[in-house]
Amino acid sequence: MFDPERFITDRVRAVDASGIRRVFDLAAQMRDPIDLSIGQPRFQVPEPVQDAAAEAIRAGLNSYTVTQGIGPLHEAIRARLVDELPQWTGPLEAGSHGMLITSGVSGGLLLALLTCVGPGDEVLIGDPYFVMYRHLVTLAGARPVLVDTYPDFQLTAERVEPYISPATKMLLVNSPSNPTGVVATARICQDLVELADQRGLLLLSDEIYDAFCYQKAEHPTGSGQFRCPSPAHHTTNLLLLRGFSKTYAMTGWRLGYAAGPAPVIDQMTTLQQYTFVCAPSMVQAAGVVALDQDMSDQIEAYRRKAAYVVQRLSGTYELTSPGGAFYAFPRVPAHLNLTATQFVQRAAEQNLLIIPGNVFSSRDTHLRISFACDEPMLERGMDTLVALAR
Ligand code: PMP
Repeated sequence: MFDPERFITDRVRAVDASGIRRVFDLAAQMRDPIDLSIGQPRFQVPEPVQDAAAEAIRAGLNSYTVTQGIGPLHEAIRARLVDELPQWTGPLEAGSHGMLITSGVSGGLLLALLTCVGPGDEVLIGDPYFVMYRHLVTLAGARPVLVDTYPDFQLTAERVEPYISPATKMLLVNSPSNPTGVVATARICQDLVELADQRGLLLLSDEIYDAFCYQKAEHPTGSGQFRCPSPAHHTTNLLLLRGFSKTYAMTGWRLGYAAGPAPVIDQMTTLQQYTFVCAPSMVQAAGVVALDQDMSDQIEAYRRKAAYVVQRLSGTYELTSPGGAFYAFPRVPAHLNLTATQFVQRAAEQNLLIIPGNVFSSRDTHLRISFACDEPMLERGMDTLVALAR
């Protein structure tokens, strides 16, 4: 007798994705919803990037590439890192640090966790967190330990420290954050780096939203652009993950990179060789062109949307202003006496799709709103949210 259940491992059974599945089920029942659930930009991939991918295909760049990624993309990223994080120049050139082109930041996360943590290890994650973190840590055999960051969602060294145990191996930092849009300050980044250093932890910095920074922050780059503070401004002894999905609206193209200490990157590269093999060849070629694009108009449009959301919701909802990314994380008004899941059900009845906090958190008190959509939809969404709070 063939029993398909027999072929599902405990490792995979431990990955509980029921929260997000409930949201997908809800979405499937709705027709043409006001969709504030989607975590990808509305703008199109810049045309020169589209052209570069098409030309790469026609020029025959359709084979496997070297596992670590093509030379021209390495060079373009290296130049970017030198511009934004000049202290990486030396270690990269000396070879004590390395770089790997990955299949999205997701690919980098999986390789990093499988490489660095396993059974008996603990990984510290700020709560609320990006959904993948908890599940991928579990898949790697390690234990996710959630560090409460309510109500302002800053993952500070003071909040992290009490959770460190002899089993703690890694600290995962995500700024700007999904789901809150909160950006760590330079001070917080520096303190986290010092704490990780003192306690012998590897800091994994997921900076997929690095370009979406709405505060004119402390770190102008060599080319004059402003970027969010990053732990990587304070050390090179961390694993940096960045991507192309959000900045250039290339979510389906699957491109990202990891940079960090050579022994870790080398091992991740070996693992990529036996899993993903390489990031898509034509996308790597287009990635070189993407890095040259000026996305400031698109990012300015998101800054305006962030301000609009704050303006519409404040007074009615308790809300920490998003400083980056395209998410806001307001609290369900207390007088309604509803869990976030119950509130989201009510919103769905008004044709509004948003995500309850418990998909990203041990609490079910807040709502993730994405303002990646177009302006008319965002306006309808805000009208509905304001009405629901009455
Ligand atoms: N990290 C965070 C915080 C994200 O929000 C996402 C995408 N939603 C990812 C990583 C994965 O992105 P990619 O498309 O590069 O795999």
